[in-house]
Amino acid sequence: MNDLLNGPKCKSCGGSVRISEAEIRRLLEEMQLSESDMISETDYNSRLSICRACEHLEYNTTCSFCGCLVAIRAWIAEKHCPKPGFPKW
Ligand code: SF4
Repeated sequence: MNDLLNGPKCKSCGGSVRISEAEIRRLLEEMQLSESDMISETDYNSRLSICRACEHLEYNTTCSFCGCLVAIRAWIAEKHCPKPGFPKW
């Protein structure tokens, strides 16, 4: 099994907190976002870089404030970093 899919389990659902690139693509497709719902790849990579350096990122996948998978949240134009008072993006 891919190492990305091993590791800690979600406290709520018991699923793995790791997620593959293919799973991210599948989830984004299911959300049926339009182009205007999403940011550019450059901006997406910028957001993800901030998350990867953030002390509030858990398991290298999940924001500890909202419980979101940042690899998905960061694509969505209307979303922002949920850090209270000091959003990072
Ligand atoms: S969304 Fe904000 S608080 Fe959450 S991991 Fe990313 S930078 Fe950190």
